[in-house]
Amino acid sequence: MSKCLVCKKTSEIEKLGSKDCKNIKCKCCGTLYISNSLFERLNVNGKKHPKLSAILREASENGDKQELQIYNYMDLDKKGDSYKINERFNKFLKMLSNKTSKLGQKIKIDLNNDWPLAFCDDNEEFKELLIELKKQELINYSGEDQFGRFVPDTPYLGFRMAENPAGRREPGKK
Ligand SMILES: [Zn+2]
Repeated sequence: MSKCLVCKKTSEIEKLGSKDCKNIKCKCCGTLYISNSLFERLNVNGKKHPKLSAILREASENGDKQELQIYNYMDLDKKGDSYKINERFNKFLKMLSNKTSKLGQKIKIDLNNDWPLAFCDDNEEFKELLIELKKQELINYSGEDQFGRFVPDTPYLGFRMAENPAGRREPGKK
């Protein structure tokens, strides 16, 4: 076990004999390749790159492993930083819907490792985002489990019209 060079958390790093890169498996950043030259340049004790973690995790969730190189990692970091809050909400909701097949299905969210899914900087910001999405009635969660993790379920999942349409009056009508 070693440290992921992007989020600095414990991860698995595997040398790939034939290629000029390493394979990183990280709970935060997903699975990615990193070139040996970049691997040597990034400092294990250096700065974290949360937006880069988000870009890498998104690619990994889509089954599309990124290959980090000296020439692309700064650009990817900037790209991750360019999303506005509503775009981040949408990305997170889309990811939830990819993980569920029906409305109301429960899924586990790991506060300590899943914050990159919403392009957050850390688990504290991620909590704020979950609270906001619950306020907007886009997700629901039943609180924290014995590991202190949120256990959201997703009854509406971005489909606001699922919200009791039969019982709703048209605006202005009695
Ligand atoms: Zn990582």
